[in-house]
Amino acid sequence: MRILVTGGAGYIGSHTVLKLLEKNIDVVVVDNLSKGHMEAVLTENFEKIDILKIDELEKVFKKYKFDGVIHFVAHCYVGESVKNPKLYFEENLNGLLNVLNCMLKYNVKNIIFSSTCAVYGEPKFIPITEKHPRDPINPYGETKYFGERILKRYEGAYGINFISLRYFNAAGADFKGRIGESHNPETHLIPLVIKSILDNDFTLTVFGNDYKTEDGSCIRDYIHVLDLGEAHVLALLYLLDGGKSQYINLGSGKGFSVFEIIKTLEKISGKKSKYKIGERRLGDPPILVANNDLAKELLNWNPVYSDIEDILKSAYKWHLSPKF
Ligand code: UDP
Repeated sequence: MRILVTGGAGYIGSHTVLKLLEKNIDVVVVDNLSKGHMEAVLTENFEKIDILKIDELEKVFKKYKFDGVIHFVAHCYVGESVKNPKLYFEENLNGLLNVLNCMLKYNVKNIIFSSTCAVYGEPKFIPITEKHPRDPINPYGETKYFGERILKRYEGAYGINFISLRYFNAAGADFKGRIGESHNPETHLIPLVIKSILDNDFTLTVFGNDYKTEDGSCIRDYIHVLDLGEAHVLALLYLLDGGKSQYINLGSGKGFSVFEIIKTLEKISGKKSKYKIGERRLGDPPILVANNDLAKELLNWNPVYSDIEDILKSAYKWHLSPKF
């Protein structure tokens, strides 16, 4: 079996490649390395191309025969998407369309799509099920929501099978420290809390301590990136086994506040985090927690790495000696 992974040099992409290789599945990675890291590409089958150039992508489809595609390539900063929606709509949607159109031309029928809990917008109930209304509140979430609509139409008209995986907060790193999270700029809470512990010159800002939660800070559902990787493999096998197209939440089902993350990382490191309280960040809902029953039921998936201490220990280990 051979799978194309677009964006396999990125954070979730590279951890998914690790899981595919563990199961002896052949992987071809395409990435333009604009955000991804060459050191994170774990297969020799690597093509440095830009999927927005369809002729370059077509060459890859011509060169290899694929049983399925896992599509990660996308811009994924909420704040940037509000400032530059043109970039997000053009590149996230054209990237997906190029992949799908190559799949049609080369008769590849199965795709796993990186989606997000941002497709739900402001939560109307918690935990969030897949039936929760989709009402994204920023262009990033909209590109993923429109991506899901495109997939549905390609399924209906051309028989493409898809699983759209709606991630909650991806976190953690490979426990052996080979790969981990390295974004530039970094905007995510866990790497920034670690930075506030390790770097004397950096102070974390907690975005709001007046939410209606127990300690006043926002609550999120952190899911280990290796549990996400495993879910992609299971989703692919599910489709190859004749399973029907689905939208599936990937979260741990448990929520932790910003202050709980800080306290747990202080305990793990034995050091203090430097932080101050700042304004609320625009568009941050107070609580986001997944209902993950569907993933468990359909994919037989169980998050095994997502105990919050395991997530934070693996992230801390990575940031003590990042390889890239
Ligand atoms: N957060 C924070 N300070 C930061 C970055 C994030 O207080 O410098 C909070 C943010 O408001 C949210 C949580 O941490 O409640 C997780 O944010 P992150 O950006 O990691 O992920 P998101 O939930 O936006 O996908």
